[in-house]
Amino acid sequence: SAKRAGGAHYAFFEPHMSTNSQEQLSLQAELRMAVERGELVLHYQPKIDARRRGEVSGVEALLRWNHPVRGMVSPGVFIPLAERFGVIGLLGHWVIEEACRQIQEWRSAGLGRIRVAINLSVHQLHEEDLVERIDSALQRHGVEPAQLVCEITETVTMEDVTTTQRVFSRLAAIGVSIAIDDFGTGYSSLSYLRRLPARQLKIDRSFISDLEASGDARAVVDAVIRLAHALSLRVVAEGVETAGQRDILIGMGCDELQGYFFARPMPADQLFAWARGRPLLAKG
Ligand code: C2E
Ligand code: MG
Ligand code: MG
Ligand code: MG
Repeated sequence: SAKRAGGAHYAFFEPHMSTNSQEQLSLQAELRMAVERGELVLHYQPKIDARRRGEVSGVEALLRWNHPVRGMVSPGVFIPLAERFGVIGLLGHWVIEEACRQIQEWRSAGLGRIRVAINLSVHQLHEEDLVERIDSALQRHGVEPAQLVCEITETVTMEDVTTTQRVFSRLAAIGVSIAIDDFGTGYSSLSYLRRLPARQLKIDRSFISDLEASGDARAVVDAVIRLAHALSLRVVAEGVETAGQRDILIGMGCDELQGYFFARPMPADQLFAWARGRPLLAKG
């Protein structure tokens, strides 16, 4: 299938096309070489400030694998493979480096100090040198720590509470902010959330897609936004696809909106063109 992504057409190799284990074996071998061959690329999806309509509050970096034969392979396919075959560390290092390089390139090109979020895997939380690596990349590329956000899914944060608290504290100490991704899919408690130095809560797409049809979904999202605000967290809604969803979320006081309704993830040069004409929210 061909998907529309930031104006260009990409043939995406999707999870449901993933077939036998033979194919997975060959994919993982190729994945190991993908970094060296320069086949990995980050696409960027804007996050929009909900109150000051149209202002870009930041972007999320989403990894793509531009496979020489299969075309663009979706992270839904290769991230699980990378985790299973021990390649995720290599990919994670590349993402940190590339995101920092891109922040600096955009800044030189006049885009200003845009905030960029990267996704961290559970494996990375357990890397001894994760925080040093991030700190070193920030310094080498001259990036302000506040420009980098690390997104970690709620379920991962709960897998090993001690590690999560230690790593989050160290990230916060170097000035990097933390977002809890896919919130609502796990069962973290209020007291647990209070103890994490996170700045953002991203409400999972499944709740957003049900907003218009389901009173229950509206009640949950409303409650999550109130809870997050009581804990001084900013709330990001992911997967916003319609004007109706946007309006409900703005009415509930959601802070930032992200989804196909505003923009799809796109290559860095397209993001630059897209964002250049728009007001960039001052860091805060
Ligand atoms: P995520 O971090 O929750 O990212 C949001 C996903 O939702 C992205 O899928 C994005 O393209 C998609 N999305 C955004 N807006 C909409 C919308 O309005 N409707 C729908 N249907 N989808 C929307 P993508 O890029 O395929 O990434 C899937 C997941 O792969 C991510 O979920 C994240 O968990 C993982 N991932 C992506 N890049 C990386 C990375 O660099 N490192 C790690 N560890 N994981 C990554
Ligand atoms: Mg994310
Ligand atoms: Mg998410
Ligand atoms: Mg997700």
